[in-house]
Amino acid sequence: MEEKLSFEYAPAPESRALVTIKPKYGHFIGGKFVAGSKHFPTINPATEEVLSQISLAGKADVDAAVKAARKAYTTTWSKMSGKERGKYLFRIARIMQERSREFAVLETLDNGKPIRESRDVDVPLAAAHFFYHAGWADKLEYAGLGTTPKAHGVAGQIIPWNFPLLMLAWKVAPALAAGNTVVLKPAETTSLTALLFAEVCHQAELPAGVVNIVTGDGSTGALIVNHPGIDKIAFTGSTEVGKIIARAVATTNKSVTLELGGKAANIIFEDAAIDESVEGIVNGIFFNQGHVCCAGSRLILQESIADEVIEKLKNRMAKIRVGDPMDKNTDLGAINSKEQLLKIRELTAAGDSEGAERWSAPCDLPGKGFWFAPTIFTGVTQAHRIAREEIFGPVLSVLTFRTPQEAIDKANNTPFGLSAGIWSEKGSKVLWASQQLRAGVIWANTFNKFDPTSPFGGYKESGWGREGGRHGLSAYLKGVSHE
Ligand code: NAP
Ligand code: MG
Repeated sequence: MEEKLSFEYAPAPESRALVTIKPKYGHFIGGKFVAGSKHFPTINPATEEVLSQISLAGKADVDAAVKAARKAYTTTWSKMSGKERGKYLFRIARIMQERSREFAVLETLDNGKPIRESRDVDVPLAAAHFFYHAGWADKLEYAGLGTTPKAHGVAGQIIPWNFPLLMLAWKVAPALAAGNTVVLKPAETTSLTALLFAEVCHQAELPAGVVNIVTGDGSTGALIVNHPGIDKIAFTGSTEVGKIIARAVATTNKSVTLELGGKAANIIFEDAAIDESVEGIVNGIFFNQGHVCCAGSRLILQESIADEVIEKLKNRMAKIRVGDPMDKNTDLGAINSKEQLLKIRELTAAGDSEGAERWSAPCDLPGKGFWFAPTIFTGVTQAHRIAREEIFGPVLSVLTFRTPQEAIDKANNTPFGLSAGIWSEKGSKVLWASQQLRAGVIWANTFNKFDPTSPFGGYKESGWGREGGRHGLSAYLKGVSHE
């Protein structure tokens, strides 16, 4: 049974005039914007409009960025007191807040995510990461990470397209707080907010070379990973590329942290508050178009409540507003790229052919751009590809269980272990289940909550090391355990 919306929302578009996008960008090296030689377009995935031309960094550009970072490290940043470093981080955080609408609009245009999310989640959390780490900069010796904590030197950082500015903040803020300098590469489809961040560094009068931003594709990423002048690699992205990076640095002195894929289980026990759980399931998988490494992409439902939850879920999904990401009412925006859309289509087609039952929310998808309606698959078994592989889209696979132990066994039956969710009104059951689950982050009666003080990271093929909190800070200091 599908309920129809009893009213419609009038369009409420955010103003595009808040941002000025240059027709062409270079790299940010040694405190200056330098022209690139080759370029590639970045598009708005909601309209396929070309927004700008981005530079593809080659060997000479990466060399120049690493040199600038080394010079800044040895001459300035490593000599500066933590208190002074902290001042720069506070300044960056404040400018990010002042320019938050610009960041939100730019992120939405380049990435396709709803303005409500970039405005209320991505940008405030990114600023919060800078504020939090600014506080650590002059207190490193009290962090319980040794009495004379030392930075690695130059950190090479490579980030994905799903939370472009937020992933930058997760990488840059702890690196600078701990006293490292940085060469960062954003994902090729979402470079614009990283380039605006470069402007913020300039505005904050951050010493030249402390942050360097080179844009490009996987080949630029590989140049950073293999550069002998880099002391530490921090990567967020796919498990596939994570494995390539782990192999590349295995024979070097580089230290490495990897934040990789996930296939999170969201377990709903029969004693859970059903309506709240339905909201949590929707938030868990449809937030940010399911472009979330810790998305609750496997719904593990107790059999006795399965029919009720699925019916309520379909009703709720039918009310998700899909469309223009710049509209403040939009819940679900565009898929980030054609490539990603094709990947989602390929995996969901495998769901059909392997015998699962597909249901998609009825919605009119825009004619241009990359779109995928919120979808669930029922009748999924653990052997199905849609239960095993990361879809990274607004697609939920539903499995059922009878006993709590069966729920845990199914949840843990994955090569990943990034996050999980538990829904139950019984505290003892929540505690028991969270101890059995092999996942780095476990939410109880909520989902997708983030805070800079809380470490984030995975077990198994979901990665090495933690980001955020004291644990995340340790990854940017020499000789300190990551756990
Ligand atoms: P990806 O293909 O692994 O790309 C991630 C970054 O690595 C991009 O900047 C990419 O550049 C670059 N890259 C590609 N090949 C490289 C190579 N050989 N050497 C060095 N760098 C290389 O991942 P994605 O498809 O963009 O992102 C989605 C994945 O990220 C998902 O699997 C998701 O689970 C994971 N993710 C994990 C977390 C976490 O915290 N655990 C957070 C967010 C996303 P180009 O984009 O220019 O190709
Ligand atoms: Mg783009």
